[in-house]
Amino acid sequence: AKRFVVQKHFQGEPKTTDLKLVQEDIPPLHNGEYLVEAEYLSVDPYMRPYVQRYPEGITMIGSQVAKIIESRNPEYPVGKRIVGYLGWRTHTVVNPQISSSSDDTFAFEKPYILPDIGDLSPSLFLGVLGMPGNTAYFGFLEICQPKQGETLVISGAAGAVGSHVGQIAKNVCGLTVIGIAGSDEKCKWLVDELGFDHAINYKKGDIATSLRVAAPKGVDCYFDNVGGDISSVVLYQMKPFGRVSVCGSISSYNADASSLPKTAIIQPTMVFNQLKMEGFIVHRWMSRMSEGVEKNLQWIKEGKLRYRETVTNGFENMFDAFVGMLNGKNIGKAIVKV
Ligand code: NDP
Repeated sequence: AKRFVVQKHFQGEPKTTDLKLVQEDIPPLHNGEYLVEAEYLSVDPYMRPYVQRYPEGITMIGSQVAKIIESRNPEYPVGKRIVGYLGWRTHTVVNPQISSSSDDTFAFEKPYILPDIGDLSPSLFLGVLGMPGNTAYFGFLEICQPKQGETLVISGAAGAVGSHVGQIAKNVCGLTVIGIAGSDEKCKWLVDELGFDHAINYKKGDIATSLRVAAPKGVDCYFDNVGGDISSVVLYQMKPFGRVSVCGSISSYNADASSLPKTAIIQPTMVFNQLKMEGFIVHRWMSRMSEGVEKNLQWIKEGKLRYRETVTNGFENMFDAFVGMLNGKNIGKAIVKV
């Protein structure tokens, strides 16, 4: 069995030497336990800030889809697949009595057996049918409270959460959708394949000008994945009574606290436009998770929700996949196939 251990807390951009790949024997199973083998592992932005909360030496945090290969628990038979926050490891002995088999207290969710989704890939439970999918579903609908005909801007638009939010907004709620993303290829995908009304490449030209052209009457809803300068631009083009769902701030995840600007400059637009801005953590809707999964699955089947995965092959390449995702190499959900 292999796992990645956090050897040194990240400082700035994660370095290969911060993690260490270790090999170890799999312990024998006790009654009630089962052994899983990872098939797909997730690399997500939250890992960068969250892992700093734990002591060095823990297994790197994260979720995975894994197959049960040995079992001493009839409720978890060999051959079934589970999804769980087991960390970056190839093999895990899971004790269902204990909420998590990883060192990670972010493992808010006990591993659960995957429901049958026919021909669809089980990896979707790390993306569109998993935590990112529920983030899009609840974080957008509950906080933005969108109304037909309104205009939505999404930053980080070509990622797992952003691309999902845009399609709910467009195909389910009837909004005008503007995405902001980091390459022409991503922008083209958003408009040509996913049906976004406009997409702005934030690495080219002036975002404020492009946004004024795309949303001449202003912005009703903003789904913010990135924070920083991009968000300041969008906030100053909000309409009165606009709603802002603050989902993430990836532009600052690699920054250390001392280098972040201290002066808040959003108050004038918050006041004059009477905006409502709310941060959230998807676990808030823990008791409604299956509602999100069912809706997202239904929309996939109805052709209203498309998804894309950027797959890195090989467990050894977890680190590259992680840093690649932080640097925007992914389109849609970044995952690793063992
Ligand atoms: P993504 O698939 O969107 O991957 C991250 C993307 O962020 C990259 O592809 C890159 O795209 C973009 N990015 C990286 N650096 C910057 C930067 N400096 N400025 C702008 N964009 C940048 O990840 P997810 O969809 O999984 O997550 C999106 C956001 O949602 C993250 O902030 C994450 O922390 C948050 N999140 C929050 C949850 C919650 O409960 N609140 C739950 C899940 C996710 P590009 O090429 O466009 O730069």
